[in-house]
Amino acid sequence: MNILVYILYKGVAIRHNLIYLIIKIHKFIEELSPMSKTYTNPETIGLHAGWRKDENTNSVAVPIHQTSSFQFDDCDHAANLFALSELGNIYSRIMNPTCAVLEDRMAALEGGVGALAVASGQAASAYAIQNIARKGDNIVASSHLYGGTYNQFKNPMSDMGIEVRFVDPADPNNFAEATDENTRAYYGEVLPNPSFEVFPISEVAEIGRPLGIPLIVDNTAAPVICKPFDHGAAVLIHSTTKFIGGHGTSIGGIIVDSGNFDWEAFPERQPALNTPDPSYGGAVWTEAVKPLGPIAYILKARTTILRDMGAAMSPFNAFMFIQGLETLALRMREHSANAEIVAKYLSEHDSVERVIYPSVMDGYAKERAEKYLSRGNGGLMGFEVKGGRESGEKFINALEMVYHVANIGDSRSLAIHPGSTTHSQLTEEELLSAGITPGFVRLSIGLEHPDDIIADFEQALSKI
Ligand code: PLP
Repeated sequence: MNILVYILYKGVAIRHNLIYLIIKIHKFIEELSPMSKTYTNPETIGLHAGWRKDENTNSVAVPIHQTSSFQFDDCDHAANLFALSELGNIYSRIMNPTCAVLEDRMAALEGGVGALAVASGQAASAYAIQNIARKGDNIVASSHLYGGTYNQFKNPMSDMGIEVRFVDPADPNNFAEATDENTRAYYGEVLPNPSFEVFPISEVAEIGRPLGIPLIVDNTAAPVICKPFDHGAAVLIHSTTKFIGGHGTSIGGIIVDSGNFDWEAFPERQPALNTPDPSYGGAVWTEAVKPLGPIAYILKARTTILRDMGAAMSPFNAFMFIQGLETLALRMREHSANAEIVAKYLSEHDSVERVIYPSVMDGYAKERAEKYLSRGNGGLMGFEVKGGRESGEKFINALEMVYHVANIGDSRSLAIHPGSTTHSQLTEEELLSAGITPGFVRLSIGLEHPDDIIADFEQALSKI
């Protein structure tokens, strides 16, 4: 049996062959989606990064490689592919040509060095952490999180032996205070759903960096309008289900690596990347990957966590997200413009207690929004109807055009009552710490004409 096949499947630690193997995998992933030119504007990146045309057919649209596996020409070809002495696709759990285009385009959009597409936003947050934290380790996370992420951290993550320490992000020093020698990462949501108080990205990143602790952020609610890597975040994730897809059709997630974090400088703090990995034949990731550049984190995520845990993105969904990326920058502009108009209308309405949207906030929340949201304030907002939960529910039941669904980032306008739905697994105290009062209604403002959105809200508010 060829020695490289043996390494891949039996995990034998032969260092120089491992390095060879890792380099081959990376080069192959790069070749799947050749990028001819580097663009900096998100409008252009969304249309051109990572793809020109299909070499065989000249197809301009990215083909959907909806296949689990790839035919071998003969036994020699199969053996060569497994040995990585010849480059080619083998199996779509680890890499797929359609997913590769999405990964390159997302890395370009966020200014990162590499990305990994996975089956959902939930898989992205779990894998981003499991890639560096093991049983007995902890992470410090903002308490202002999407309810599903909060529950993932509080329950399954802790069942796996990874403790998540929740802190209030209003004061960045709370992250420092909750840190100990087993802290492997800080975690926050850029535009937290549904409190919408922007996370103090550079303040927390600066606390972590000298300690060897990377900041991982969820940028689901703020693609294009916030560039977390410019402010010191090391890794980011998205639920591509939301604005990136943009049409409410597909579930997916992605992890993007900035390449800006020096994992190797902190061998004790970051053992997963600096000690022999039994899951990959004893590879020490920071050493093995060094010849390829700063991609140890994202390559490990693909070749161990995704390979072993298996929540791969479907190629069809990758295609849908690529379609979404083509108009993402334009849509974010329109979502933001419509939301500003709706926020103003609601702020002036007699039946409305308060509106929660970056541009109508005060104090540190406003300052952070101005510092971090550079291309609009996004499409998400919350508001409290006078009369608490009962009035909030009446408002939602009276909506005629706006959809009542558990989603955000669709082209259509959406509304929901988080306390009884998306965040219902949280206790009363946890709800308040996430910024959710009983009468809170969450809105995802879509791309309809703002007059029509306001007309629907007006008639619904008249019925409470
Ligand atoms: N992150 C945020 C901010 C979300 O709003 C969601 C879902 O609503 C997720 C992550 C989870 O994403 P998915 O539903 O794709 O698993």
